[in-house]
Amino acid sequence: MYDVTIIGSGPGGYVAAIRCAQLGMKTAIIERYSTLGGTCLNVGCIPSKALLDSTEHYHLAKHSFDVHGIEVSGLKVDLARMMQRKNEVVQQTCDGVQYLMKKNKIDVYHGHGSFVNAHAIEIAKTDGTKDSLETDKTIIATGSKPSSIPGVEIDKQRIITSTEALTLEKIPEEMVIIGGGVIGLELGQVYARLGTKVRVIEYLNSILPTMDRALGKELQRVLKKGGMEFYLSHTVKNATVQGEKVTVIADNKKGEEVSFSGDYCLVAVGRRPYTDKLGLENIGIQTEKGQIPVNDHLETSVPGIYAIGDVIRGAMLAHKAEEEGVYVAEYMAGQRPHINYLAIPGVVYTWPEVASVGHTEEELKDKGLAYKSGSFPFKALGRARAANETDGFIKVLADKETDEILGVHMIGARIADLIAEAVVALEYRASAEDIARISHAHPTFTEAMKEACLAATEKRPIHL
Ligand code: FAD
Ligand code: NAD
Repeated sequence: MYDVTIIGSGPGGYVAAIRCAQLGMKTAIIERYSTLGGTCLNVGCIPSKALLDSTEHYHLAKHSFDVHGIEVSGLKVDLARMMQRKNEVVQQTCDGVQYLMKKNKIDVYHGHGSFVNAHAIEIAKTDGTKDSLETDKTIIATGSKPSSIPGVEIDKQRIITSTEALTLEKIPEEMVIIGGGVIGLELGQVYARLGTKVRVIEYLNSILPTMDRALGKELQRVLKKGGMEFYLSHTVKNATVQGEKVTVIADNKKGEEVSFSGDYCLVAVGRRPYTDKLGLENIGIQTEKGQIPVNDHLETSVPGIYAIGDVIRGAMLAHKAEEEGVYVAEYMAGQRPHINYLAIPGVVYTWPEVASVGHTEEELKDKGLAYKSGSFPFKALGRARAANETDGFIKVLADKETDEILGVHMIGARIADLIAEAVVALEYRASAEDIARISHAHPTFTEAMKEACLAATEKRPIHL
């Protein structure tokens, strides 16, 4: 009998398992695939960032080295080697999780887990045999799978998801991407840098529509310079495959039918929670819009059964899943953990990078909150000029009366790491003046945060 069993070994599940074991619980984890780490490590965060980093090197060598006085000749891409490196990074990372399970004495079961009842789980193994285990409590961390839209059937050959886009063997000449969200832009930039003609079709009137609108606007401007094409306010009607080509038909904003052709169509319109064959009916849990409903303590309608990560409400982010994994482990152990969802950052790993934390300007307007705003452009930053990275800005939104920072929205070089300061500011309820009065090393990109806070607090940036 286990104290706790975790179904799914993604960032939610494996982190929950480690924290449960640290807290002295006898812990088991079940994973239907042969490697641990879930979407994030196998077909998500890690492989996509490996390809983004590789193609960034190529892009810089091709387009930016000359500015620095460096000449390169004979530059070419070996896609097979690039993919092999990506696979090696994935394998090392997954092996790391395997090691952590062993180190923490967590029993790993490979196979598809399903509830027989609230305390018994059956594991269907790939060789057709079955295992079973008994458990006091369970954490469901089964994650998500790509979704599609009516008229677009994913065949994984020509109409593909991010999973297939991470393993293409040949650089496509043309790729049509449905969805101008995170996956569409990150993987779009990977292939655009490799020379693919990338066209992004987005239903709404902005890319990255859930982030502060200023970010999508600036990113679109920069990505357009890199050759990507954007078709906003387009409603995709269908996608069809003829031989090695895909045709996507959409209505533009005037209602006229337009057609796009590509070697591949990447469908990147969001992901759906994954609860297939989990046996939820055997324990009386009903999904809502595909998600497993949970209370404030992440407990389902069945006492002792919790759910975390992509399979429940909220942003589909690895670090959100991790926080929830730790939360449930500590809550089960009788502690009083807390998650501040407003202070969970969102990052897009294109170049320039994009990141956000807290409220967007649109949300503050909708809520009728009085706020002040300050921005600082990277082009006014000495370090950005030295690095030849002058695209982007940092925008700080603060409460009009109290000066408390309510949201920070950034686009530019090294933003994925810079957002950490804004997260700390939000978590500790700093005012814009607090951050503006902290010394920021010169010359660094972090100075843009200090300057944006100065701009927000008293409209008195130093270098603008
Ligand atoms: P998952 O990682 O999906 O793991 C769930 C696991 O459960 C899977 O391994 C699955 O096989 C297993 N499972 C499911 N059902 C069963 C069952 N019945 N029995 C046994 N095992 C089961 N997020 C970020 O924060 N940063 C990024 O840079 C980022 N990049 C991404 C790039 C791509 C291309 C994609 C697709 C996603 C990316 N994400 C990123 C999102 C991130 O991957 C997810 O938010 C995260 O993996 C969710 O973690 P999870 O533990 O909830 O689920
Ligand atoms: P997303 O929600 O980020 O973007 C989907 C986009 O598709 C949206 O802009 C949406 O308006 C658009 N769309 C929806 N229906 C459409 C239609 N019919 N026609 C055209 N456009 C349409 O989803 P995603 O990019 O598929 O990513 C899935 C999840 O994975 C996201 O929740 C994201 O958080 C996560 N992810 C995170 C990262 C990261 O943190 N860097 C990277 C990749 C994926």
